[in-house]
Amino acid sequence: MRSTVRRAVCPGSFDPVTNGHIDIISRASFLFDEVVVAVGVNKSKSRLFSADERMDMLSEACRQFPNVRVDGFAGLLTSYCQEHDVHAIVKGLRAVSDFDYELQMAQMNSSLAEIETVFVPTSPEYSFLASSLVKEVATFGGDVSGLIPDFVLELLTARLAERNQEASS
Ligand code: ADP
Repeated sequence: MRSTVRRAVCPGSFDPVTNGHIDIISRASFLFDEVVVAVGVNKSKSRLFSADERMDMLSEACRQFPNVRVDGFAGLLTSYCQEHDVHAIVKGLRAVSDFDYELQMAQMNSSLAEIETVFVPTSPEYSFLASSLVKEVATFGGDVSGLIPDFVLELLTARLAERNQEASS
């Protein structure tokens, strides 16, 4: 039987968390009783930050939302949802280009399990924002303050400096 608690997941890689992610998580926290930010911990993908680092950053960024917690998942998101009694996946939609893939994924997920996907339109000020772009711009010295939390900016700057040093040694 379904629990009466309306629980949702906000899945992603969050490498690192951006203000666009936080906006979607915050809005999901208004819509649902409980929100789990589910961090993909798939080892095969190369990330700038480890799964633990990404989860720690998210925990810090989500401390302001009492009904939000952070967890890791490996494998199928639908299996995670079934195991944790979650019936909704919240995704932010930035542009039409997100839609094709997200629609396909939502339909696949609902064919695998009894799970609805809820699309939340991105706030206009974050519609161009993606972790990959933030990393790319920061790598070349661009100013990404205002796009990610200040403490994430510090960690990102330090990690990129480490990588630079490794590459030049
Ligand atoms: P990225 O941020 O690089 O696109 P993620 O896998 O970390 O990748 O993103 C996780 C989810 O967060 C995305 O599927 C999307 O639903 C949402 N998201 C990411 N960035 C934004 C944004 N700027 N506005 C709204 N939603 C976003």
